[in-house]
Amino acid sequence: MKVVCPYCFNVNNVPYKKSYKKANCGHCKESLLFDKVLELYEQNFDLVVANSSIPVVVDFWAPWCGPCKVMAPEFEKAAKEFPLKALFAKVNTQEEQNLAMRFDIRSIPTILIFKEGEIIYQMKGAMKKDAIVSLANSFLPN
Ligand SMILES: [Zn+2]
Repeated sequence: MKVVCPYCFNVNNVPYKKSYKKANCGHCKESLLFDKVLELYEQNFDLVVANSSIPVVVDFWAPWCGPCKVMAPEFEKAAKEFPLKALFAKVNTQEEQNLAMRFDIRSIPTILIFKEGEIIYQMKGAMKKDAIVSLANSFLPN
Protein backbone atom coordinates (compact mmCIF):
# COMPACT_ATOMS: atom_id res chain seq x y z
CA MET A 1 0.00 0.00 0.00
CA LYS A 2 1.06 3.57 -0.61
CA VAL A 3 1.97 5.82 2.32
CA VAL A 4 3.26 9.38 2.16
CA CYS A 5 6.08 10.06 4.60
CA PRO A 6 4.88 12.81 6.97
CA TYR A 7 8.44 14.13 7.27
CA CYS A 8 9.85 14.28 3.72
CA PHE A 9 6.61 13.72 1.72
CA ASN A 10 8.08 10.98 -0.44
CA VAL A 11 5.69 8.18 -1.34
CA ASN A 12 6.57 4.80 0.18
CA ASN A 13 5.28 1.36 -0.72
CA VAL A 14 4.63 -0.58 2.48
CA PRO A 15 3.26 -4.13 2.61
CA TYR A 16 -0.17 -4.24 4.21
CA LYS A 17 -0.18 -5.82 7.68
CA LYS A 18 -2.64 -5.99 10.55
CA SER A 19 -0.08 -4.35 12.79
CA TYR A 20 3.45 -3.03 12.46
CA LYS A 21 6.40 -3.16 14.82
CA LYS A 22 8.52 -0.97 12.63
CA ALA A 23 8.26 0.81 9.28
CA ASN A 24 10.62 3.49 8.12
CA CYS A 25 10.65 5.87 5.20
CA GLY A 26 12.93 4.63 2.40
CA HIS A 27 14.07 8.20 1.78
CA CYS A 28 14.58 10.02 5.10
CA LYS A 29 14.47 6.91 7.39
CA GLU A 30 11.99 8.50 9.78
CA SER A 31 9.33 6.20 11.23
CA LEU A 32 6.15 5.86 9.19
CA LEU A 33 4.33 4.80 12.36
CA PHE A 34 3.11 8.36 12.66
CA ASP A 35 0.59 8.93 15.44
CA LYS A 36 0.27 12.71 15.37
CA VAL A 37 -1.87 15.10 13.37
CA LEU A 38 -0.20 16.21 10.15
CA GLU A 39 -0.71 19.80 9.07
CA LEU A 40 -1.72 20.03 5.42
CA TYR A 41 -1.39 23.01 3.11
CA GLU A 42 -2.46 23.69 -0.45
CA GLN A 43 1.08 22.73 -1.53
CA ASN A 44 1.05 19.21 -0.06
CA PHE A 45 -2.65 18.39 0.23
CA ASP A 46 -3.15 16.58 -3.08
CA LEU A 47 0.13 14.71 -2.85
CA VAL A 48 -0.76 13.32 0.57
CA VAL A 49 -4.42 12.59 -0.07
CA ALA A 50 -3.97 11.01 -3.50
CA ASN A 51 -1.04 8.81 -2.45
CA SER A 52 -2.42 7.40 0.79
CA SER A 53 -3.92 3.92 0.60
CA ILE A 54 -5.02 4.32 4.21
CA PRO A 55 -7.96 6.63 4.99
CA VAL A 56 -6.97 10.27 5.52
CA VAL A 57 -9.09 11.91 8.22
CA VAL A 58 -8.91 15.69 7.83
CA ASP A 59 -10.07 18.24 10.40
CA PHE A 60 -10.90 21.60 8.80
CA TRP A 61 -10.58 24.14 11.60
CA ALA A 62 -9.74 27.78 12.35
CA PRO A 63 -7.99 29.48 15.28
CA TRP A 64 -11.04 31.64 16.13
CA CYS A 65 -13.43 28.68 16.37
CA GLY A 66 -14.28 27.59 19.92
CA PRO A 67 -15.60 24.09 19.11
CA CYS A 68 -12.47 23.50 16.99
CA LYS A 69 -10.29 24.18 20.02
CA VAL A 70 -12.35 21.77 22.07
CA MET A 71 -12.01 19.07 19.43
CA ALA A 72 -8.27 19.49 18.69
CA PRO A 73 -6.96 17.50 21.71
CA GLU A 74 -9.64 14.83 21.15
CA PHE A 75 -8.51 14.50 17.53
CA GLU A 76 -4.87 14.23 18.64
CA LYS A 77 -5.73 11.48 21.11
CA ALA A 78 -7.63 9.57 18.44
CA ALA A 79 -4.65 9.85 16.04
CA LYS A 80 -2.49 7.92 18.52
CA GLU A 81 -4.55 4.79 17.89
CA PHE A 82 -4.02 4.69 14.11
CA PRO A 83 -0.34 4.60 13.17
CA LEU A 84 -0.20 3.33 9.55
CA LYS A 85 -3.92 2.53 9.70
CA ALA A 86 -5.32 6.00 9.10
CA LEU A 87 -3.61 9.34 8.64
CA PHE A 88 -4.94 12.17 10.78
CA ALA A 89 -4.46 15.63 9.32
CA LYS A 90 -5.69 19.17 9.78
CA VAL A 91 -6.23 22.19 7.56
CA ASN A 92 -6.31 25.71 8.98
CA THR A 93 -9.14 27.19 6.89
CA GLN A 94 -8.17 30.74 7.80
CA GLU A 95 -4.75 30.28 6.18
CA GLU A 96 -5.79 27.81 3.49
CA GLN A 97 -8.78 29.54 1.98
CA ASN A 98 -8.40 27.86 -1.39
CA LEU A 99 -8.74 24.42 0.20
CA ALA A 100 -11.73 25.58 2.24
CA MET A 101 -13.40 26.87 -0.93
CA ARG A 102 -12.54 23.81 -2.95
CA PHE A 103 -14.18 21.50 -0.41
CA ASP A 104 -17.01 23.94 0.24
CA ILE A 105 -16.36 24.13 3.97
CA ARG A 106 -19.22 26.25 5.30
CA SER A 107 -19.00 25.44 8.99
CA ILE A 108 -16.16 24.30 11.15
CA PRO A 109 -15.02 22.01 12.45
CA THR A 110 -15.77 19.79 9.46
CA ILE A 111 -14.22 16.35 9.15
CA LEU A 112 -13.65 14.92 5.69
CA ILE A 113 -12.34 11.42 5.16
CA PHE A 114 -10.49 10.67 1.93
CA LYS A 115 -9.56 7.35 0.40
CA GLU A 116 -7.22 7.39 -2.60
CA GLY A 117 -8.10 11.00 -3.30
CA GLU A 118 -11.89 10.65 -3.07
CA ILE A 119 -14.08 12.02 -0.29
CA ILE A 120 -15.76 9.02 1.34
CA TYR A 121 -17.25 10.70 4.38
CA GLN A 122 -18.17 14.18 5.57
CA MET A 123 -19.33 15.34 8.97
CA LYS A 124 -19.88 18.76 10.58
CA GLY A 125 -19.43 19.61 14.22
CA ALA A 126 -17.02 18.77 17.02
CA MET A 127 -16.57 15.15 18.08
CA LYS A 128 -15.13 13.41 21.13
CA LYS A 129 -12.18 11.05 20.90
CA ASP A 130 -14.26 7.87 21.15
CA ALA A 131 -16.57 8.98 18.36
CA ILE A 132 -13.61 9.89 16.14
CA VAL A 133 -11.98 6.51 16.84
CA SER A 134 -15.09 4.53 15.95
CA LEU A 135 -15.64 6.65 12.85
CA ALA A 136 -12.07 6.05 11.65
CA ASN A 137 -12.36 2.34 12.50
CA SER A 138 -15.40 2.02 10.30
CA PHE A 139 -13.24 2.88 7.26
CA LEU A 140 -10.47 0.35 7.95
CA PRO A 141 -10.29 -2.96 6.07
CA ASN A 142 -11.70 -5.89 8.06
ZN1 LIG B 1 10.60 10.41 4.69
